[in-house]
Amino acid sequence: MTLRLHDTATRTVRDFLPLTPGKAGLYLCGATVQAPPHIGHIRSGVSFDILVRWLKVSGLEVTFCRNVTDIDDKILRTADAEGSPWWAVAERNQRAFTRAYDVLGCLPPDVEPRATGHVPEMITLIRRLIDSGHAYAAEGGVYFDISSYDRYGALSGQRPEHMRAADDIEGESAKRDPRDFALWKGHKPGEPSWETPWGPGRPGWHLECSAMATKYLGATFDIHGGGFDLVFPHHENEVAQSRAAGDGFARYWLHNGLVRLGGEKMSKSLGNSLLVDALVTQVRPVELRYYLGQVHYRSDIEYSPEALAEGAAAYRRIEGFVVRAAEAAGTGTYRADGSGLPPASSLPAAFAAALDDDLAVPQALAVVHEAVTEGNAALAAGDQAGAAKQAESVRAMLAVLGLDPLAAPWATSGASELRDVVEALVSVALDQREAARARMDYPAADAIRDQLRAAGIVVEDTPAGPRWELAR
Ligand SMILES: [Zn+2]
Repeated sequence: MTLRLHDTATRTVRDFLPLTPGKAGLYLCGATVQAPPHIGHIRSGVSFDILVRWLKVSGLEVTFCRNVTDIDDKILRTADAEGSPWWAVAERNQRAFTRAYDVLGCLPPDVEPRATGHVPEMITLIRRLIDSGHAYAAEGGVYFDISSYDRYGALSGQRPEHMRAADDIEGESAKRDPRDFALWKGHKPGEPSWETPWGPGRPGWHLECSAMATKYLGATFDIHGGGFDLVFPHHENEVAQSRAAGDGFARYWLHNGLVRLGGEKMSKSLGNSLLVDALVTQVRPVELRYYLGQVHYRSDIEYSPEALAEGAAAYRRIEGFVVRAAEAAGTGTYRADGSGLPPASSLPAAFAAALDDDLAVPQALAVVHEAVTEGNAALAAGDQAGAAKQAESVRAMLAVLGLDPLAAPWATSGASELRDVVEALVSVALDQREAARARMDYPAADAIRDQLRAAGIVVEDTPAGPRWELAR
């Protein structure tokens, strides 16, 4: 095991040594389901999907927990604005997120807990914090006393005296210090509430993640992930309340970069045109996944339609080689496991070394592109065995990144049956075109090619005869 990961808490890249040898527990802050996902949201899903895949290929048994925040100020505001029940807004958008994760080929988490299903665990954690002098109840709410925890600010690298007040406006008069944050929000008329020993109310955002992470992964677990925008206050508050309560909590903190638009972090209004549902009508889902996953997970992405188109074209070049090699030499002996993942032994050493170096996907993709170049050269030289060897290696590497064009979910059996039918029909037309050319009736030959083009099929003449593909 030589994997090294950048840990936000220490600001260093360090060896990943799991708590229990052979296993890895990962908690990822999932969606606050107040709106359908734009690519800024789903980028986190793709980045951590690559991490999960790499941990598995590295031989670890992974427990992946990604939560759903299904009660929150923003959900209540949306529900209010549209006159729907809060739970209907949460359900609808949770389904939209699930669809987006699925359509981009993210492996499902082992458990996807919802905040509202974990109030008893939150009550237990609040009690531990009150009993140990780290939290206090006031005016119906319960607040974390930041002065009681001397490591407050360490994760985000801030000194408490420079911190702004916490975001809980309603607790202003109840708090001992404006930077104290709400563990539990007291009931307000018109809002949903749950009973607690401190009165009715609803969960604070930070508390729910601590309660769910430790319920499913244990008091101490390996990796906590999320976007860089969550480091403060969300993760700072999570680690403060969990450590203050006596839990070890996360041993490594991983944060993905943001998607920016015109230099700004994507917000709901900026992101509307970049909803996942909208973008997958412009490029294929696998191309969108390539675009989001090709950048190092800690780097920001500056979105532009041109960059998206470039990403899609880069993927099509790789895919084109894999498909041509399969046509020329068959799909080979490549075998993936149940999750579609390859054995580590099938991967080039340089590719594995890149991913072991804090998931350096750009360097790993350079190895893929090199293999594609060599494979294309082998195809051009008629070296089928050489092309097949490169194709197997390319497919194994792509599978680690969730991008193998010949594996699920990108290749479905229904689609490949249909391709066989199209193949037969196109070859009838191509035979007629060859016959027209043989009798030097070039207008007829060109007309057949144009009719195929109009039907969405592009014909290319190669030394080995005509080949076709779907127009893109
Ligand atoms: Zn969280």
